[in-house]
Amino acid sequence: MRKKIVAGNWKMNKTAEEAQTLLSEVIALINDEVTGQVEVVLCPPALYLPIAVQSTLAYERISIGAQNCHEKASGAYTGEISAPMLRSIGVQYVILGHSERRQYFEETNAQLAEKVNIALENGVKPIFCCGESRDLRENGDYIAFVKNQITESLFHLSAESFANVVIAYEPIWAIGTGLTASSAQAQDMHFEIRQHIASQFGVEVAQDTTILYGGSANEKNAAELFAQPDVDGGLIGGASLKAKEFTIVVQAN
Ligand code: 13P
Repeated sequence: MRKKIVAGNWKMNKTAEEAQTLLSEVIALINDEVTGQVEVVLCPPALYLPIAVQSTLAYERISIGAQNCHEKASGAYTGEISAPMLRSIGVQYVILGHSERRQYFEETNAQLAEKVNIALENGVKPIFCCGESRDLRENGDYIAFVKNQITESLFHLSAESFANVVIAYEPIWAIGTGLTASSAQAQDMHFEIRQHIASQFGVEVAQDTTILYGGSANEKNAAELFAQPDVDGGLIGGASLKAKEFTIVVQAN
């Protein structure tokens, strides 16, 4: 049985005080209002990871994720944060290959394969992001593009390692635009992704893989998106910055 997950990607938002407030509100609301099996992964900026881990230790449903890590374990890489460091403070997940990192920091599929490796070697589960641009969606073979992102960054793994990877399909044209993919568009791509995973790792592994949707998912559209058979939850940006909205999204899964 695959896990249902709703992850909140806070991106580069919130001062320390604001982060603490949001954290407290989200924890209280999730604890009071959410029922069922869904796992919540909060991904604040790296500075706030220790306090996020500490604040959520008592809450089994809630895990903490980073938004990135370096591809090396340690060394002279000023300003960077490594997977062993994340592990050492109790971080359980790391978002890798977000389209903003691919775009602004020129992360490549090959580099992401290294990041995936170092995360898995250190017991941190990657939330691996993939997704096409608007131009590709309108004029190109966007399905082949997304499949290739997965092939080049994940298909070197053993099936056993791959079982620890969560996939997040985030069409770039839907991120922060208010223009969410329709539930049918999300389902179609998630189905393709699951088939692709099955072609490499087998049907059983593919059936057990959690595939999240991201891109303007919010408290209004989440229930319909999550009702699709291959949509196992969401990676939420803007709507994760408001405790009530985020909790409604979580409860929708
Ligand atoms: P929005 O929910 O703000 O569109 O962001 C989605 C996203 O990029 C999550 O990683």
